[in-house]
Amino acid sequence: MSEKLSFVNPTANSPWGTYLSQVDRVVPYLGPLARWVETLKRPKRALIVDVPIEMDDGTIAHFEGYRVQHNMSRGPGKGGVRFHPDVTLEEVMALSAWMTIKTAAVNLPYGGAKGGIRVDPKKLSLQELEKITRRYTSEIGIIIGPHTDIPAPDVNTNGQIMAWMMDTYSMNVGGTATGVVTGKPLHLGGSLGRVKATGRGVFVTGREAARRLGMDLRGARIAVQGFGNVGSVAAELFAEAGAKIVAVQDHTGTIVNTNGLDLSKLIPIANKEGVIAFKGGDVVPNEAFWDTACDILIPAALEGQITAERAQKTTAKLVLEGANGPTVSSADDILAERGVLVVPDVICNAGGVTVSYFEWVQDFSSFFWDEDEINVRLDRIMMNALNQIWDTADKHKITLRTATYAVACERILMARQERGLYP
Ligand code: GLU
Repeated sequence: MSEKLSFVNPTANSPWGTYLSQVDRVVPYLGPLARWVETLKRPKRALIVDVPIEMDDGTIAHFEGYRVQHNMSRGPGKGGVRFHPDVTLEEVMALSAWMTIKTAAVNLPYGGAKGGIRVDPKKLSLQELEKITRRYTSEIGIIIGPHTDIPAPDVNTNGQIMAWMMDTYSMNVGGTATGVVTGKPLHLGGSLGRVKATGRGVFVTGREAARRLGMDLRGARIAVQGFGNVGSVAAELFAEAGAKIVAVQDHTGTIVNTNGLDLSKLIPIANKEGVIAFKGGDVVPNEAFWDTACDILIPAALEGQITAERAQKTTAKLVLEGANGPTVSSADDILAERGVLVVPDVICNAGGVTVSYFEWVQDFSSFFWDEDEINVRLDRIMMNALNQIWDTADKHKITLRTATYAVACERILMARQERGLYP
């Protein structure tokens, strides 16, 4: 294998580098299945596409897009599409790999995939956003499909973007293929409960972790980084359970209120203008977010946020990874040494893909469930997965992250072995 390929030679602390070191840590627990572990260290398939669109001012702009299918041993690829100015192939590779681990950890019949476009969608008009979405979908249309790879929302993408993706794919195949993407609007084959599912999963796993730690949620101080679909929903549910949200950071800045931020006022303002516009807290420099005294830390933004230095200074006893890949490996070790419990991304934020799975099943059966049914099933899947992982962690005296990888990788590599090598 060439040493020049980025998938064997990652940059230190990059998302792909972090993922590879997470895989290395699980090898001692894989037994004879370790023979297949190299499978997990490279994507099955990666597509780079040029996405040209005519901008409103008449110029032609080119954007770079990706769809990576990391693993399909257990089923079709599954994973979101992100629109962000920092998207790279290496990042999308890591995000697709985390989807492989995540779908296996909660035992959904999927592999892992992810997509993205390097673009700042905040700088696009609605019309430009639609064009970029449609052209990207058409370009990746050669590898996605309801039975092969099913995209969904991720950072800066939403139900409207999924509707355009579904329509574009459907126009190209000459039918209406609702099952090609999940996270769609309700009247287009979307599922009740999908929008809040990721935040809800963070809450459900976090509540159980707090219970096991003997931490009372009433009065618990929580700091949330990222206040989009994941962070704000999790914050609301924790506040309902009696916790105080003492610090929130988003792309506009950081606000702190040691008495607890009033979420009913903060959320509508944050959705429109960003948290910085909210008057019910003190604006502090972004780095001070990590110094805020708290019991629970919820990183719900981007990768690589919990560095070694930040891991050293956090006062949190519990970290709930709403984001994908928020903790670099050196920080993971420091948190473990300091006795800080981390509920890893690949279980903590799996609520979104779990309800995506419900959506996909509902689309195929053309029979839709009510919200209670969805939430009951979601909570059950998340709790079962967490309990199993917890038992594995206790048995081997390993972190919840390595235990999650042990459970997930055994499922993936067993499927790999049973299918055998082709040809
Ligand atoms: N983007 C979400 C994630 O990172 C959801 C993916 C999906 O629903 O397929 O898990």
